[in-house]
Amino acid sequence: KMPVPSDIEISQSCIPKPIDQVAKEIGLLPDEIELYGQTKAKVHLSALKRLKNQPDGKYVVVTGITPTPLGEGKSTTTIGLVQALGAHLHQNVFACVRQPSQGPTFGIKGGAAGGGYSQVVPMEEFNLHLTGDIHAITAANNLVAAAVDTRIFHELTQTDQALYNRLVPSVNGVRKFSEIQIRRLQKLGISKTDPAALTKEEVNLFVRLDIDPATITWQRVLDTNDRFLRRITIGQSPTEKGFSRTAQFDITVSSEIMAVLALSDGLDDMKKRLGRMVVASSKRGEPVTTDDLGVTGALAVLMKDAVKPNLMQTLEGTPVFVHAGPFANIAHGNSSVLADKIALKLVGKEGFVVTEAGFGADIGMEKFFNIKCRYSDFRPNVVVLVATVRALKMHGGGPAVTAGIPLPKEYMEENLQLLAKGCSNLSKQIQNARLFGVPVVVAVNAFKTDTKAELALVVQLAKEAGAFDAVECTHWAEGGKGAVALAQAVQRASQTPSNFRFLYNVELPVIDKIRIIAQQIYGASDIELLPEAQEKVAVYTKQGFGNLPICMAKTHLSLSHDPEQKGAPTGFILPIRDIRASVGAGFLYPLVGTMSTMPGLPTRPSFYDIDLDTVSGEVNGLF
Ligand code: ADP
Repeated sequence: KMPVPSDIEISQSCIPKPIDQVAKEIGLLPDEIELYGQTKAKVHLSALKRLKNQPDGKYVVVTGITPTPLGEGKSTTTIGLVQALGAHLHQNVFACVRQPSQGPTFGIKGGAAGGGYSQVVPMEEFNLHLTGDIHAITAANNLVAAAVDTRIFHELTQTDQALYNRLVPSVNGVRKFSEIQIRRLQKLGISKTDPAALTKEEVNLFVRLDIDPATITWQRVLDTNDRFLRRITIGQSPTEKGFSRTAQFDITVSSEIMAVLALSDGLDDMKKRLGRMVVASSKRGEPVTTDDLGVTGALAVLMKDAVKPNLMQTLEGTPVFVHAGPFANIAHGNSSVLADKIALKLVGKEGFVVTEAGFGADIGMEKFFNIKCRYSDFRPNVVVLVATVRALKMHGGGPAVTAGIPLPKEYMEENLQLLAKGCSNLSKQIQNARLFGVPVVVAVNAFKTDTKAELALVVQLAKEAGAFDAVECTHWAEGGKGAVALAQAVQRASQTPSNFRFLYNVELPVIDKIRIIAQQIYGASDIELLPEAQEKVAVYTKQGFGNLPICMAKTHLSLSHDPEQKGAPTGFILPIRDIRASVGAGFLYPLVGTMSTMPGLPTRPSFYDIDLDTVSGEVNGLF
C-alpha cells in the first residue's frame, strides 16, 4: 500500500468544487450566499427564515474518550463520517466544525481540518484567516477593553457635570439621551426621558459606573501564542496621568465574544448577549455590563458578518460549516448553534448533521448537552464516541510520550492486556453519554500499527459497556469508504428513539449543579470549594446569575482534576478553586486548577516549516 501523504499534500491534490456550486447543490439560493473567493462563502441568516417550516434532520455529535497526547481523531472522524454518509451512502449530510485558532497553527499543532483522506479543503484556508471571524472578535473584544479603562480614566479626571455634558451633549441647544442611555436609566430605575430633569443624585448615578479596577475580568486578546503578554502593565504613558494597572492578553478564541458567537441563535439574540457581558463590578458590588459602557451596538456592528456561518467542503465534496471555536475549558468548546440550525434545515428530515464537541465526552459532550442543547433546543439523536487503540493503551498505564522522540514499543506492538485495562476509560465515557439518554456508537479509529485482535477487543468491550454499536474505521487512510460501516451504524442508531434529558435542572443551587457533574460524569466522591469559590457562589447568586448552566474548566487529560490519573479514577474529591461568570454567553465556569488562556510557542514552532512558494503562490508546510 502507498503511504498516506501529508495533510496539506492531500488537500492540495484535490480540486475543490466552486463553492457556489456546493451551495446550489444543497439548496441555497444565490442571494443567500456571499462568496469569499472560490472555496469559501458566508451563508446569510435569511436562509433560516425561508426554511423555517422545513423539518430538522438527525443530529449527531462526535466526541471522544479522554484525550491523550497521541491524538484520538475526533475531527478526522467527523469528516470521515460525513464523507461516508454523503458521498458513499448518498444521504443529505452536513458537518459542522469549529474554526481553529491561528495561535497553535504557528505553534505546536497543525490545524483541526481533520487529517489524511478525511479533511475540510482547502486546509490552508481553513487553518489561517478563513473569512476573518476571529479578527472581528479580536476587534470587538479589544473595543470593550479600551472602553473599560478609558471610562475609569475619564471618571477619575472629571466632575459629574463635566462627564454629563460630554455623555449627553447639547446639540443646537438640545440634549437628548441615546437609546443605550435610556436603557441604562431604566436599569437605574430612573424613568425620566428629559435630560434637563435629572437631579444631581441621578446625574451622579448615571455618569459614574464606578468600576472597581480590582474586579475587572475583561482582558485584551490576540490570536497569537505570545507568552510575554500573559501579564503586562498598561497605562505607562504620561498622558494616562499615572493611571496604570496590571492586565493581561488572552488568546482570541478564549474571549467571551467567541462563546457568545457560538451560542447565539440569531442576530437579535447575539446583540442581547453582547450587551449582557459583565466586565467588572462597581465599587458598590453591582455587575458592570457592556451595555453600561454604551458599546453594545458597536459590538453588534463589528460582529455582523462573523455571525454568518462559513461554507466549505470535504475532500469528497460534501458540505461543511466552519463556524466559531470557543475554548473547551473556560468556555463550552462547541461550534455554533447557528451553523447547526441552518444545516439541520438544509439536510431535511432524513438527512444528518454531524457536529463536533471538543475534548473528551466528560467535557465537550457534557457541555454540548447541558449548555449548547439547552440554549438551542436541539435534541441529539446519536453520540459517536471516538477511541483509538494507542490512547486506550495509555489509559491502561502505557508510558508517557515525548514530542520528537519515537513512540515507545507499547504503542507499536500488540498488547491486549494494557488495552483491556485502558478500556475502563472508554466504558466510563460510554456510560456518561448514556446518562443523557442518547444511543452511543463507538468509532474505533484505526492506526496502521493496530492489530486485528486489538481492534476486535475494543469493539467487544465497547458493546459490553453498553454502546449501541462499535465499529472499526479507516477513514484517515481511505476517506469516506473507510467509514461506511460507521455511517451505517449511525443510521441504525438514529432510528432508535432518543430519550434525551439534561443532567441537572438549572434552577438548582450552583454547588448542587457542580456536584452532580463531578459525581455522575467524573466519578468524584465529592467536591470541595476553596474560599474564593465559596465567595463567588455568594456573589453570583446575589447578582442573579445563580441559575446559569455550569461550564467546568477542568483538565481534559483525565476524568479527574489530575492530568496524570488515566483510565477511570474514582473516589477523589474535586477541588473548585474559583468560579467565574460569562453572563453574556450564559454560563458560570468553575475553575478546577489553573487554566492557561494564552499559550506559548515551543522551541521549534511550526512556523519553521511554513512557507510560501512565490512562483505558484502555494502555502507549504502546514500539517
Ligand atoms: P482531535 O480532533 O481528536 O484532536 P484530529 O482529528 O485533529 O484529533 O487528529 C489528530 C491528528 O491525528 C491529526 O494530525 C490527524 O491527521 C491524525 N490522525 C487521526 N486519525 C489518524 C489515523 N487513523 N492514522 C494516523 N493519523 C491519524
